[in-house]
Order: sequence, then structure tokens, then C-alpha cells
Amino acid sequence: MARNIAVIGAGVIGLASAVNILEEIPNVTVTVLADKFSPNTTSDGAAGFWEPHAAADTPEHLQRHWGEVTFRHLEALCRTEESSVAGVTTLSAYHISKEPIKDEFWASTVYNYRQVPTEEISRQYPHAKYGIFFTSFLAECRMYLPWLMRRFKEQGGKVVNKHVFNLEELVGQYDVIVNCTGLHSRSLVSDDSMQPIRGQVVRVKAPWLKHFVYDVTADCAVIPCSNNVLITATAEIGNWNTEPDPEYRKKLWKSCCTIFPSLKHATVDYEWVGLRPGRPSVRLEKEIRKVKDEYLKIVHNYGHGGAGITFHWGCAQDTTALVAELLGRK
Ligand SMILES: Cc1cc2nc3c(=O)[nH]c(=O)nc-3n(C[C@H](O)[C@H](O)[C@H](O)COP(=O)(O)OP(=O)(O)OC[C@H]3O[C@@H](n4cnc5c(N)ncnc54)[C@H](O)[C@@H]3O)c2cc1C
Repeated sequence: MARNIAVIGAGVIGLASAVNILEEIPNVTVTVLADKFSPNTTSDGAAGFWEPHAAADTPEHLQRHWGEVTFRHLEALCRTEESSVAGVTTLSAYHISKEPIKDEFWASTVYNYRQVPTEEISRQYPHAKYGIFFTSFLAECRMYLPWLMRRFKEQGGKVVNKHVFNLEELVGQYDVIVNCTGLHSRSLVSDDSMQPIRGQVVRVKAPWLKHFVYDVTADCAVIPCSNNVLITATAEIGNWNTEPDPEYRKKLWKSCCTIFPSLKHATVDYEWVGLRPGRPSVRLEKEIRKVKDEYLKIVHNYGHGGAGITFHWGCAQDTTALVAELLGRK
């Protein structure tokens, strides 16, 4: 008899988990339960660049493993006809700074990684002196999530639009529940260590810009995407405000125009504020909870901070292995 699996969440973490479970475990029915779908998830607003970032104290060996698996998945996808529909492409990046930049632990995963001579940096970005350069992938979730959803449904995956107030309301209905609710795990599973990491974004029309540049000193980034250029700065930990802040926008705009003076001629497409699901470390583990006379088998996969897209496929594979274990199909 087919076993029933529920995946709560339809962001990049939930959909990647649902697809992997359906494709890797024989004889299962998989249902995605979520109260928001593309284009209205946090994942949709992200740039989608592959780079381990804002992952707090998640152990380096796990970041390396999940990042590497995801990089290879994007690499394989990029070699297919599907890549344009899935919104996956390569993108090269400079990180620039007034101070020397240490080599990253993921240097050997990406293409073309190198420390850039000061002469090359300061000719292009006179306010900076040091830099690294590398080529990685961009997976734009406004295309990638619908593509994952189509892949899921074509193989018989089911979808229910529903807010889950408590995991225990699902007892008796599913053999395993996979929790991919991102920041909302704070209330759903009472995880007080979950914190928003606020990111304010301005998307502008500037099709002449082709390189991602992250200014480490000013903490701001200019990221060319397929329909616009995303400019953002990172981390405001603990700030729940989802309204764009005009003062913050002014500061961001000034820093980004220092990187690319031509941005002064760009027109604003739209603004957005997203709350990254921050946690001291990604939570990817199983839990068996006794509810009255029954057992609720759960796999948690949430808390990816600023690296959900970077880790999604690796985390989905590990989630699938835990689901198989809980079903007794190791
Ligand atoms: C400005 C910004 C830029 C970013 N850029 C990048 C980047 O370039 N690269 C990168 O790797 N990461 C980036 N990130 C981080 C990335 O967006 C997140 O790590 C990722 O989106 C987390 O995915 P998720 O699926 O866990 O969460 P979400 O996308 O938030 O999805 C959560 C899902 O759970 C559902 N849900 C929650 N609670 C319930 C409930 N109780 N009942 C039913 N459904 C529920 C929601 O409806 C939704 O479908 C960025 C984030 C921001 C804010």
C-alpha cells in the first residue's frame, strides 16, 4: 500500500523536498500543504545566487556538502533545454573590499575562483582595493518554483492550500510529515531560536549591467537577474518590519551608485522586503512525537537563513533519506 507523506511549505525548501521524496522513494503519495505559493513566498523574492551566505553557525562540513550537491544539481540542469524555463543560469561575481578578503571555504566548488590583483579592482572600482572573482549559478525562484511544481504535479504530486496551525492536527492522516515552513517554524513548532534577517530589495531596470558585485565594506550588492537588477544590503537580524524604509533605500542607493555610477539612470521596477529564516544552525533532523495513542513522525528542514537556494537540493536529498528511514525503507 502507498504510504502518505505531507510536506508543509511551498518555498524552495518544501518543493525541492517534495520532488525528491516523490522521485526517490518508491510507492509513496506526496502532498504539499501550504498557505502561500509562488510568487508569494520568501524564496520568490530572493536573488537566487548560489553562495553560502548568512548561514550563521551551521557546521562548515554541512554547508560544504549541501552547497556542493546543489551546485552540481544546478550545473546539470543548466546543461539541459529546461534551464531557460527553470530560470537557472551562470553568473560571475566580484566581491570587493577596502580590506583583504580571506579565501572562502567553498572556493573549490565554484568556477574561476581567484584573488584579484589590486590593479584590476581599483581600475573598475576605485573606492576598493581587494577582491575575489568567481562564477556560480543564479536560480530565480519566480521561474524555478513553478518549474519544480510542474515536475512535482506531472508525477502525481498533490497540492492543498491550507494553513497548518499545529502539526498534531495531521496525526493519523500521514505516515511522515516534513516541516519546511521557514521562519514560521517559530510559531508552528515553538522554535524561539528562529529570527528574521531582514532584507530590503530594490529591483531596477538596468539591462547594461552583467556582473554581480558585492561591496563587502559597504555591505551592498548589485545582482543582474533576467528581467531586472536586484540591489540589496544584508542583514538586519531580529527586524520584523516588512515595509520598505525610505531612509534605508537612500543609503542603499548611494552605496550602489558608488559601485556602478550608471545606476543613476536606472528606473525602479519594484521594491520588496523579505525576512530570511534565520537560525543559529539549519535544522535538518527527524523527530518522533507521541500524540495520545499515536506517533507523529516528523522531519524538520528549515532555518536556512540567507542560503536556502544555495543548500536546497542537498537538504532535500538528506530529508528524503530521513523520510525513508522513518518509513523503514533505509
Ligand atoms: C533579500 C533576500 C535575498 C536573498 N538572496 C538569496 C540568494 O541569493 N541565495 C540564497 O541561497 N538565498 C537567498 N535568500 C534566502 C532565501 O530566500 C531563503 O533561505 C529561502 O527562501 C528559504 O526558503 P523556505 O522554503 O525555507 O522558506 P519560504 O520561501 O518562506 O517558504 C515557506 C513556505 O512555508 C509555508 N508555510 C509557513 N508556515 C505555514 C503554515 N503554518 N501552514 C502552511 N504553510 C506554511 C509558506 O506558505 C511557504 O510556502 C535571500 C533572502 C532575502 C530576504
